[in-house]
Amino acid sequence: MKQITTILLLLLFLSSCKNDKKQKTKNTKDIKQNEFAIIIHGGAGTILKKNMTPEKEKAYQQKLEEAIKAGYSILKKGGSSTKAVEASIHIMENSPLFNAGKGAVFTNAETNEMDASIMEGKTLNAGAVAGVKTVKNPISAAIQVMNNSNHVLLSGIGADNFAKEKGLDIMDPSYFYTEKRFKSLQRIKNKEKTQLDHDEKSAFYDTDIKDSKFGTVGCVALDKKGNITAGTSTGGMTNKRWNRIGDSPIIGAGTYANNATCGVSSTGWGEYFIRGVVAHDIAAQMEYKNVSLKEATNDVIQNKLTNLGGTGGIIALDKNGNMSFEFNTAGMYRASMNDKGELIVKIYKE
Ligand code: ASP
Repeated sequence: MKQITTILLLLLFLSSCKNDKKQKTKNTKDIKQNEFAIIIHGGAGTILKKNMTPEKEKAYQQKLEEAIKAGYSILKKGGSSTKAVEASIHIMENSPLFNAGKGAVFTNAETNEMDASIMEGKTLNAGAVAGVKTVKNPISAAIQVMNNSNHVLLSGIGADNFAKEKGLDIMDPSYFYTEKRFKSLQRIKNKEKTQLDHDEKSAFYDTDIKDSKFGTVGCVALDKKGNITAGTSTGGMTNKRWNRIGDSPIIGAGTYANNATCGVSSTGWGEYFIRGVVAHDIAAQMEYKNVSLKEATNDVIQNKLTNLGGTGGIIALDKNGNMSFEFNTAGMYRASMNDKGELIVKIYKE
């Protein structure tokens, strides 16, 4: 009898220790880390230090810093997360360094077709544009779709016309020409032609994309009112054809936000992000499995996306101001700022 009582007491003690541990994990995850915060990316991919010059590295770091500070100052003054996301993305869209706006990559037809999306976590309201050719800042067109239309996604010439009607800056398509991006297209086309002669087109296509840099830009912000907004803007993938649309304007794949969980912006090989519904999957794991942001982003990128064969990464920010950068490529241009103004800017894998 005495022995049984001792065993029972021991079991009781062990189970209380376990519960205590569980409680502690839950608490760390549920504690407010930052009253407000912001996180950005400028694309992921085969970004290696050995291929970078110090000047190029500095140029990226400075632009990332400028972009994140623009959003941060809005949040600090009590501005909305949507305004912060728009301001940060504008700076990256206006720079030729990133594959968005001014630096957009070329399609097979030697044009630039841009995609963008935005989502607000408070209302689950969202807006997106795909295949626009004249809008200077596609992220602003996505915001207009969200706020001033009955729709979520507009495409092609209709989206360009809509942006013009709303008074956004419209550019001649030649504005989006950059020599660097045009040369990349020519390189790919030449390579494709050689490979085609050898009838190995699809093999070429896959390895080439796996080795590329995805220069899409994105931003997620949490404002002082607890509202999360996520936004993404891109030129898509070099040499795309047939009005191909990637994940960036697809709510749930390239962008997602929900005040109950987190906000996410993706970059990478878009077809895989669409199939994996990557941005929404991260929020869903937090909601249904009650896991932390870190656990959710790690599982979705390092296990699920990787097992599908996809490459790229995400930035994410949860309702408590926890932040996560997660990618399965060599690098990702990225930066974050917390409510104390602490800035992190990184390019390569740790
Ligand atoms: N995700 C984008 C797309 O597939 C590309 C990128 O991230 O750079 O269109």
